[in-house]
Amino acid sequence: MRYSGLRVIKEALTGHKGWGPAWRNPEPQASYDYIIIGGGGHGLAAAYYLAKEYGKKRIAVLEKSWIGSGNVGRNTTIIRSNYLLDGNEPFYEYSMQLWENLEQELNYNAMVSQRGIVNLIHSDPQRDAFTRRGNAMILNGADARLLSTAEVREMYPFLNFNDARFPIKGGLMQPRGGTVRHDAVAWGYARAADLLGVDIIQNCEVTGFRIENGTCKGVETTRGFIGATKVASSVAGSSSRVMAAAGMRLPIESCVLQAFVTEGLKPVLPGVITFGAGHFYCSQSDKGGLVFGGDPDGYNTYAQRGGLPVVEDVIESGMALIPALGRVRVLRNWGGLVDMSMDGSPIIDKTDVDGLYFNGGWCYGGFKATPAAGVCLAHLLATDTPHKLARAYRFDRFRRGYMIDEKGQGPFPNLH
Ligand SMILES: Cc1cc2nc3c(=O)[nH]c(=O)nc-3n(C[C@H](O)[C@H](O)[C@H](O)COP(=O)(O)OP(=O)(O)OC[C@H]3O[C@@H](n4cnc5c(N)ncnc54)[C@H](O)[C@@H]3O)c2cc1C
Repeated sequence: MRYSGLRVIKEALTGHKGWGPAWRNPEPQASYDYIIIGGGGHGLAAAYYLAKEYGKKRIAVLEKSWIGSGNVGRNTTIIRSNYLLDGNEPFYEYSMQLWENLEQELNYNAMVSQRGIVNLIHSDPQRDAFTRRGNAMILNGADARLLSTAEVREMYPFLNFNDARFPIKGGLMQPRGGTVRHDAVAWGYARAADLLGVDIIQNCEVTGFRIENGTCKGVETTRGFIGATKVASSVAGSSSRVMAAAGMRLPIESCVLQAFVTEGLKPVLPGVITFGAGHFYCSQSDKGGLVFGGDPDGYNTYAQRGGLPVVEDVIESGMALIPALGRVRVLRNWGGLVDMSMDGSPIIDKTDVDGLYFNGGWCYGGFKATPAAGVCLAHLLATDTPHKLARAYRFDRFRRGYMIDEKGQGPFPNLH
């Protein structure tokens, strides 16, 4: 069924009896050509592009829970392509271009909203650094604008401009940045992949790999063994655990990142803002809630739930930037498991086991990467060569010393 405005009107007039399930619920087959572990945004997107762009068949996505239950449905929905380094910026700009056409491509309303993102500047050296970043973005075909304090004040008059500790001295804006309804991305890719014949198998946890003579023959799951010619792990915060089952130790640590939403307000925040003097970012959802987040919890864990010290820290940062936030009630907060790599950049690569591939290390920035990561993982699976935009995202950069350390923090995953 094609979704359209006319269809919505017809269904509204006929009692909504014509809507069918958006994807099937198939039983797993004995074997597939391609198995992707993890029904998050990346896994579903990779399955979709594998079928659509590379014409591959017999593809399954195995999800231990329900699709969208991981970070794809827990993130703060921000998309942007405002990176500095060569390994990153072209990749994220490509992802941005895919977002711009995603709803038409998937025939699904993912509420892609290019409402603009502003990174606030609080010191002169920070202006220099952001100017450099803006120039790198423009050189890579992205859009960037340096804003004066007056321009920021016009957009966001309620910010704390004259705070003696954190005066606002301007901003770096990417007008094409914005937000996308996160779980709709999972549903849109799931529906489009299913239409191309991909089996999406929920409640099917991968518990091990069958590896014979250095070749992966399939996966052990809670629903039995499933054979495969090629298997890719795309499980975000569970990457270390899943790959440990194949005998691999990854340059990745997992921790929790929390997010928060307030009660609904009238429209106050037209775009996304990030605080440059602490870790705090905020946007307003279409329902009116302010959606915000900050630093990850400072310890490694596989629990999808954060601690109170970070709640205090994030809200303090928020109050420093938007004092009026103190008048608003926080409705909910939640946590997601993020796979922090040693340099803050991702990995899309083959492994030493034939037929076993890996996509992970997205830290807390992988939502915006969903379309491009899907294309690049599909390309790797289909052709056994890295996509040209993901050549830098290989395991061997850690051995060769070619880190893509966007923030210049060194090998401290919690700081990226
Ligand atoms: C609070 C928070 C805010 C964030 N905000 C942003 C943001 O604003 N912008 C941005 O770009 N990024 C953001 N991120 C990061 C982003 O959400 C992730 O990097 C990205 O979603 C990871 O890819 P994914 O969607 O495939 O992951 P997931 O949705 O987590 O998918 C992985 C899936 O693997 C499944 N799985 C795990 N183990 C197994 C197994 N053994 N067998 C089968 N399935 C398994 C999980 O159940 C899960 O569904 C945020 C993350 C969090 C937690």
